Amino acid sequence: MDFSTYFLMDEVAVAQYAREKIDKFNGNQLSVTEIGDGNLNYVFRVSDGEQSVIIKHSGVTARISDEFVLSTDRTIREGRLIEAHSRYVPDQLPEIISIDLVMKCVVMEDLKDYAILRTALQQGDICPHLGKSLGHYLSETLIRTSDFVLPAKEKKSLQKEMINPELCEITEDLVYTEPFYNNFSRNEISSELELFVEKYIYGDASLKAAVAQAKLKFLNKAESLIHGDLHSGSIFIKKDGLKVIDPEFGFFGPAGYDVGNVIAHLFFAYANAQASGREEQAIWLKSVVDEILATFREEALTILTENTYDIALRDTALFAAFITEIERDAYIVAGLELIRRIVGLAKVSDITQLHAERVNTEKKLLTFAKFLIQHPDKVRIYSSLFKIYEAGEEQVA
Ligand code: ADP
Ligand code: MG
Repeated sequence: MDFSTYFLMDEVAVAQYAREKIDKFNGNQLSVTEIGDGNLNYVFRVSDGEQSVIIKHSGVTARISDEFVLSTDRTIREGRLIEAHSRYVPDQLPEIISIDLVMKCVVMEDLKDYAILRTALQQGDICPHLGKSLGHYLSETLIRTSDFVLPAKEKKSLQKEMINPELCEITEDLVYTEPFYNNFSRNEISSELELFVEKYIYGDASLKAAVAQAKLKFLNKAESLIHGDLHSGSIFIKKDGLKVIDPEFGFFGPAGYDVGNVIAHLFFAYANAQASGREEQAIWLKSVVDEILATFREEALTILTENTYDIALRDTALFAAFITEIERDAYIVAGLELIRRIVGLAKVSDITQLHAERVNTEKKLLTFAKFLIQHPDKVRIYSSLFKIYEAGEEQVA
């Protein structure tokens, strides 16, 4: 086999590739398993019995469907984005071993000692460092890639490399348009939820006006190098740390996108814990969200204060306003993410696993999501986002 021209590798090809290309395997016999569970790419675990690596590889179409044609360069961009963020939080990302521009694959550290956050949470795990770790990840990656800290020319050069029109288009459609318009009839709603969605989502013109503003921001606000898909399936955790994977949707976009995304998925986890009677975990999950926001604000302010390189931007009031706007964007994005995962086609198992409580949970989350999108400025009146969630329809008054 020849790896000088691209082809879609299977397990046999990956074994030979790894034997030839990865030094640490020294030409040893290797076992390869495809472990991908995502929609788009192939993820291979390669092992010689002692050491192992992960090879993420992209095809010209999506893993789930040949109808989705996407540039194979997405994996290259993902590898580079991980490298870019690793400048700030090396411990919170997988180590990148190599990036192959020809074979369109990234060789990275195997996170076999970690668990996927969504799975761990559904099993009832409590992970005390989670809020602080995520707040730290968010402030470091988002603030240090903003115009305050990253020199303008460096930012623009990275921006050029990270431009991501195809995957952004997926977000633009699946997060910002289809859940509200169902223009391709791709939304998936149970019959019990249908009337509710028709009335309160499709039928709410003022909600759609707020979404329009948010969409415009997603399209034109090149604020920070964002992950772009920071859900609980993209976060690996263990007792004393976490690692973030799969920033395939990343680009220079609104910083609040990542913050809001992860908060939405913690609400799904909370709803799952509550509906499944895991009280203690539910209480802990509330504190995680509060801690993410508090840590983010505190660390963001420190980074801005200590690292703003441009004297003309060194203004305490500007720092505070910048962070407040990210938080505001985050509330809106959290609302959008909740809606798109309930109404749109890409569901989360935290919700689909539920039985009797599913519809009521969905309605409660949708009501909360609408509040976040329409009244982001009212959030600070409440001491915690959960107060708004628990208040249900009362909050709108
Ligand atoms: P996709 O882009 O197709 O969504 P992901 O990057 O999410 O692919 O990876 C799919 C799955 O492969 C993950 O859910 C995880 O189980 C596994 N995986 C991905 N990267 C690693 C890694 N570095 N170490 C261990 N497992 C990984
Ligand atoms: Mg994935």
